[in-house]
Amino acid sequence: MPIEFNDLDVVSEVAGLSSALIVPCNMCPAVSVAIREKKSFMKFFRSFLKSIPFEQYIRTLQCRLREKGLRTKVFRSNLYHQWFLCMWPSGQRKKLQKHAKQYEAVIVLGCDSATETVRDSVKSTDCKVFEGMEVAGFMNAKLRFHLPCNISFEDCKIIPMSQQKKEEDVSV
Ligand code: SF4
Repeated sequence: MPIEFNDLDVVSEVAGLSSALIVPCNMCPAVSVAIREKKSFMKFFRSFLKSIPFEQYIRTLQCRLREKGLRTKVFRSNLYHQWFLCMWPSGQRKKLQKHAKQYEAVIVLGCDSATETVRDSVKSTDCKVFEGMEVAGFMNAKLRFHLPCNISFEDCKIIPMSQQKKEEDVSV
C-alpha cells in the first residue's frame, strides 16, 4: 500500500441510469490522485482529514455524472478508521446498505477489495455496482512533511503487481 490507480470510464457505463451513490476509499485513491496532480495529499490546517485533490476529483466526477442526468451523492467516511474500505466495520457496511437503497447505482473509487466490501454491503439491494478506478500497480514513494502541517509524496515509482509482471515478462 498505497495502490496506484487508472481512471475507468464509469460515466459512460452508468449513462442511462438516474442516480448513483459514490463510495470513495479515502486512502490509496486519494494518495494516487494527489501524486498524479503533483499536489499535497493533505493540508491539515486548510482541510482537516480531507485530501483536497481527491475532493476536487470527486466533485468533477459528480459534475460529469450530473451532465448525464444522474443525481449523485458521496457516501462519506469521515472517521479515520472508516477510511480504508477493505477494513470497514460492520456498522459502516450497514449504513451503506441503508443509503444505497435510494440509488440505482453505486460507484466505487478504490481497489478490488474496496469493491468487494461494497458488493457485500449492498447485496440485498437492487443497486448495481460500478468501478470508477482500476489498479495500476503499487506505489513506492517518499513521504514528506512540510510546514505548517502538509503531507506530500516525492520520488514516486509504480511497482507492477506480481501477476502484471509475469504477464509482461511472458509478452516480451
Ligand atoms: S480498500 Fe483498497 S484502495 Fe482502499 S485502502 Fe484498502 S487497499 Fe487501499
